[in-house]
Amino acid sequence: MRVAINGAGIAGTALAWWLRRYGHEVLLVEQAPALRSGGYLLDLWGIGYDVAEKMGVLPRLQESQYHVEELRIVDRQGRVCGGYPTSVLSRLAKDRLLAIARSDIAAGIHGALDRGVETIFGDSICAIEQDESRVMIGFEHAPTREVDLVVGADGLRSRVRALAFGAESKFDYALGCHVAAFELPGYRPREDSVAMIHGAPGRYISNIPLREDRTLVFAVFRDKCLIGEVPSNASERKAALRAIFADMGWECPRILSAMAEIDEIYFDSVSQIRMERWTHGRVALVGDAAACPSLIAGEGAGLAMAEAYVLAGEIHTSRGNLAAAFSRYEERLKPFLTRKQKAAEKMVGAFVPNSAFGVAARNFATRLMRLPIFPELLMGRYLSDDVELPEYAT
Ligand SMILES: Cc1cc2nc3c(=O)[nH]c(=O)nc-3n(C[C@H](O)[C@H](O)[C@H](O)COP(=O)(O)OP(=O)(O)OC[C@H]3O[C@@H](n4cnc5c(N)ncnc54)[C@H](O)[C@@H]3O)c2cc1C
Repeated sequence: MRVAINGAGIAGTALAWWLRRYGHEVLLVEQAPALRSGGYLLDLWGIGYDVAEKMGVLPRLQESQYHVEELRIVDRQGRVCGGYPTSVLSRLAKDRLLAIARSDIAAGIHGALDRGVETIFGDSICAIEQDESRVMIGFEHAPTREVDLVVGADGLRSRVRALAFGAESKFDYALGCHVAAFELPGYRPREDSVAMIHGAPGRYISNIPLREDRTLVFAVFRDKCLIGEVPSNASERKAALRAIFADMGWECPRILSAMAEIDEIYFDSVSQIRMERWTHGRVALVGDAAACPSLIAGEGAGLAMAEAYVLAGEIHTSRGNLAAAFSRYEERLKPFLTRKQKAAEKMVGAFVPNSAFGVAARNFATRLMRLPIFPELLMGRYLSDDVELPEYAT
């Protein structure tokens, strides 16, 4: 089949890899001018780690991994009031866990694609017209093409989803928080292997040391902290973050003044994508575009890879019967993704507690993670995937 995939992120590159492996002709379309670099740090574990292993890309990903050794929670004076060594999480995940930048996963998989995959950068699918036997796709720049299947792997704010399934507002399930993330060059103080976290009611801010003397600042806050309109450009975002975090103590004043020097700030609502169907005719969705579990789930990257693996495997097994492949793709994964989304929704209260008591209780619970048994009790279910990945013959 000729397959066009919009988005060369984690889901898009993984799907391209598997479809190519099964002999299909794949076109990847990425709106960024080149593969993205940098970006926030995430943990890859569970079935996503298993899929990376099946693809043989683990050694590549391991080369780019980070070694954050401790999550340290501090109060407004900077005194330690919670946290635990990350070895606790690695142990729970049976040492199958990687801390890695989001862009390094996509780049690692893209680097493993062979020549059968064409990538167009700086463009986007912007029109889809399908009938029973084919799909015509229009691009912002490239000429129209005919393909057999179109996949939206273009993330939380998917354009393919909007084109083929309808307005985003029908599927966006907001969890009541916003997230901001940005990188600071040369920020001090810095401990190379420690992620620092500070919380107050309704607000969470952390800084994480990255390579090349960059520090990632990652902030989550309840929607009620945001006064007025949701900011739409960098200067409005900076103003909003200053208003929300200026009185938080710790290093917040220093972080906010360093923020003045940077241009790029990721800022969005913390949302899930909840849909009845992930497929429609000859169009399918994968990754965040289909079933974003939100950053609170801490597993979106791995789930995106698992979805890509199953979608490609079912297409392969169905030998051209797309309707059958799509049904099995959804049957195998939708109930599992729904459970993941519900679990993440329940975690919002622990991630960004609304009260001082809630913050203190969360900090106390993280201290318990240093003791025997508590890691399993507190995080064991969170770090397990109650689904079996099918095996597909090649
Ligand atoms: C701050 C933060 C922290 C997170 N932490 C974790 C974590 O610890 N663990 C974890 O597993 N997950 C985490 N996640 C979630 C994880 O990043 C996502 O679930 C994962 O990246 C989804 O992969 P994806 O390929 O579906 O989408 P994305 O990674 O968003 O990739 C989409 C790609 O599509 C491209 N694109 C977008 N629109 C278009 C268009 N119109 N045309 C062409 N291309 C387009 C984008 O440029 C991008 O390359 C976090 C998310 C955030 C925001």
